[in-house]
Amino acid sequence: MPPASTPSTDRLVRPEIAALDGYVPGEQPQSGKWIKLNTNENPYPPSPAVARALAATATGRTLAKYPDPMATAFRRRAAEVLGVDPDWIICGNGSDDLLTILVRTFVGEGECLRMPYPSYILYRTLAGIQGASCDEVHYRPDWSLGDDFASARDDLRLAIVANPNSPSGTLLPPARVAELAARLPCAVVVDEAYGDFADTNCLGLVKDNPRVIVTRSFSKSYALAGLRFGFAVAQPALIEQMLKVKDSYNCDALSIAAATAAIDDQAWLADNRAKIVATRTRLIEAMRALGFNAHESQANFVWCTHAERPHRPIYEALKAQGILIRFMNYAGWGDGLRITVGTDDEIDAFLAVMKTV
Ligand SMILES: *Cc1c(COP(=O)(O)O)cnc(C)c1O
Repeated sequence: MPPASTPSTDRLVRPEIAALDGYVPGEQPQSGKWIKLNTNENPYPPSPAVARALAATATGRTLAKYPDPMATAFRRRAAEVLGVDPDWIICGNGSDDLLTILVRTFVGEGECLRMPYPSYILYRTLAGIQGASCDEVHYRPDWSLGDDFASARDDLRLAIVANPNSPSGTLLPPARVAELAARLPCAVVVDEAYGDFADTNCLGLVKDNPRVIVTRSFSKSYALAGLRFGFAVAQPALIEQMLKVKDSYNCDALSIAAATAAIDDQAWLADNRAKIVATRTRLIEAMRALGFNAHESQANFVWCTHAERPHRPIYEALKAQGILIRFMNYAGWGDGLRITVGTDDEIDAFLAVMKTV
C-alpha cells in the first residue's frame, strides 16, 4: 500500500485542496454501547409516518426509476406548512448539501465568504474547496454580533450565520439579523439547522429581503440524521440560480418520501420539541449546580465552560465511561464542552458520571 498522501499526490491535486484540513465530523462509533451526546442528533425515534412512507416507497417499482429531481411532493407539503409558494424551496441531501450549493453559487475563486467565529467549521472548509477566503468576525463575549459583521469589502460574496449558533446555542434576534442583512452588500444565509428548537426564526426575513436564504435540516429536529435531507427557502429568482448548481438527483426517492411524511406530522414535531426543551432546562440547571457556566440555549445542546477546571480531561473521563460529548477548541477563542440534549435517562446517566469526575 502506498502512503495515503505523498508530495507527488499533493502535486496532482489543486493546491487549494492540498492545503486544506478536511472537515472532521464528531465521532460516530459504529459498534459498542455509547451514550452519544456529541453530534446533536435527536435521541428519540422519528415520526412513525416515516417508516410507513419508506416501506411504501420500497415496494413496487418506485426505486427502479430516477427520483423526482425537484422533490415536488416535498416542496408542496413544506410550502403549506411554512406559508410560502413551492418555488421558494430547494431540497438537498442534508443541509450540508445546500451549504455546498450556496457557496458554489455565490462565491468564486479568490472571493470572500464571511462568517462569525466560533461557529460551524464546515463553512470554512467549503470556502477553502472553492479557493475563496474566509473573513471570520468574532462574536462578542455575550455571543452578539457587532456591526463589523456587515462591513463592506469588494470581494465579499456571501455571509453565513448559524442561528441558533453552534457551539453556543445562542440566537441572534431576527430583527438583528435583518439589520445586518440590510447592510451587507451580498447574499446572506441563515443556517437554521436548529431553528425548530428556538423561540423565533428568520423565515420572515426571506419575504422582505431578496438576498436572504434560510436553510433547514431534518437531521436534528425531525430525528432523521441518518436519512440526509434538508431544504432552503429564498425568493424564486435565487432558487432558480441554485437549481443550476445542484446535482440533478441530489435527493433520493426514499428521502423525499420520508421527509414529506415527517414534515406532514407537525404534531410529532411539537411533542418532540417540548420534550427536548424540558430536558434542556434540566441539563442547564444541573450543570450550573456543578459549578459550570452553562449558557442559555435555543438549540438541542448546551455549551458549558468551567472557570477553573480544564475541559479536555472531563471529556476524556466521560468517554472512558462510555459517554461521548464534544470537546471543542477554537484557536484564538478558547475551549469548552458541547453537550447534546439526550433523553432524560441519558442525561441522568451523564450527570451521575459528571458528579464523579
Ligand atoms: C448539523 C448542522 C448542519 C448539517 O445538517 P445536515 O442536514 O445533517 O447536513 C448544518 N449546519 C449546522 C450549524 C449544523 O449544526
